[in-house]
Amino acid sequence: MNFSFSLNTQNHFSIIKNIADELNQQVYIVGGFVRDLILERERNEVDFLVIGDGPTFAQKLAEKLNVKNVNIFKNYGTAHFKYKNIDFEFVGARKESYNKDSRNPHVEVGSFEEDINRRDFTVNTLAISLNTKNYGELIDNFNGLDDIKNKIIKTPLNPQITFDDDPLRIMRAFRFASQLNFYVDENILIAAEQLAERLKIVSQERITDELFKILSSSNPSIGLKLMQNTKVMHVVFPQIANLAGVDQRKDFHHKDVFLHTCQVVDNISKSTENVWLRFAALVHDIAKPQTKRFVEGTGWTFHGHEEIGARMMKGVFKQLKLPLQKINYIEKLIRLHLRPIALASEVVTDSAIRRLSANAGDDLDDLITLCRADITSKNQDKVAKYLQNYENVMSKVKEVQEKDNLRAFQSPVKGEEIMEICNLKPSKKVGEIKKAIEEAILDGKIQNNYNEAYQYLLQIKSDYLN
Ligand code: ATP
Ligand code: MG
Repeated sequence: MNFSFSLNTQNHFSIIKNIADELNQQVYIVGGFVRDLILERERNEVDFLVIGDGPTFAQKLAEKLNVKNVNIFKNYGTAHFKYKNIDFEFVGARKESYNKDSRNPHVEVGSFEEDINRRDFTVNTLAISLNTKNYGELIDNFNGLDDIKNKIIKTPLNPQITFDDDPLRIMRAFRFASQLNFYVDENILIAAEQLAERLKIVSQERITDELFKILSSSNPSIGLKLMQNTKVMHVVFPQIANLAGVDQRKDFHHKDVFLHTCQVVDNISKSTENVWLRFAALVHDIAKPQTKRFVEGTGWTFHGHEEIGARMMKGVFKQLKLPLQKINYIEKLIRLHLRPIALASEVVTDSAIRRLSANAGDDLDDLITLCRADITSKNQDKVAKYLQNYENVMSKVKEVQEKDNLRAFQSPVKGEEIMEICNLKPSKKVGEIKKAIEEAILDGKIQNNYNEAYQYLLQIKSDYLN
């Protein structure tokens, strides 16, 4: 297979070829860019594999492209710059060897083959040559092209070894399955379950990063279920793993909260790209296991799970090393996630509505998005009814807000003018007249403008002056 046509649409690739010739160095496009080119997925990040020194090559190329800012990571032998909004990443070919006692591989300069052999999944081992002798040629040493066509994530080597070397690859497998909507090879699942505990040696930042990439994909439940079924979730996020399971008591069984959560996360992912709102969906029922009670005659209850769930976030944020500036938002959404439905009944006071909009503040729309996603009934009539309930709540909120805006308004005819027209000194009476004008506007007797307010004042003035 040859990709010179696809490459020729992007001028920078032929510039790279020329520089590679000049420097007598081999360069390949590798990894995600090649995979996504075949899958016709858009991306704005290209990984280049340079046989030799990555940073030197990057610097030469940046000069030719007139790019000023080049980030060089000497320790890693990598470099990065942005060109026309595309991220260009460069790495020199390397070979890695792993020692059981150390988390970090021993890295040394390697050949093209050695570099490709150390990559995580067959779909990521594909390379396109940018060299004169085979410009545009696809190099596929591990049948990656077939695996892309068959939509399957496989490791080039035995997954036991691949995951033992770098356990983060377990999370990466599930992340790619989620992002690309791919299957995961059975052997990966077996190895993932056997080696799940090894994830404990990986830095939390890298794990959380993969978890959030799963949440950012279009069907996060794919990755979440893979994590759950291989017990990786039990290591990475045990509170979510605990949501699984169904109890049966008499005629009452409660639905599996983990599966419900997966559906809520998928639902919300259809309405928002905001990964924090998606995270809120993941954790909204996190305290259900602790609060579960069986009440005779009623069935299962989860009294207070929204408050306890909100309070669990401090621990969760610490454990996952999440940025603390997001904690209030997440706590708020968990704490309030049952409130809108409680307000859907016909008789609800203005003050209850006012309290909800005050508590939710700017996040009211996000809260309602979460509530809508939380409807997972299979009964379409029920779904329609529940959705309509939220419409009703939102129109009540709007109504009350409009009323409140009016209440905060001031009579268009000001106090000084009232005193002048009615020939009054500052007194209680001035206030009463002003209030009467405001009430007339609130009652809809007159419009909220100067002229009507002035005419109305002339009309009522005698009532107040005798
Ligand atoms: P994307 O950028 O879309 O997330 P990607 O495939 O480019 O996907 P990166 O994490 O950017 O993934 O890594 C670039 C390439 O480096 C991968 O395609 C893979 O070949 C290799 N790679 C990255 N991390 C690892 C790892 N932990 N083990 C083995 N190979 C890896
Ligand atoms: Mg990448």
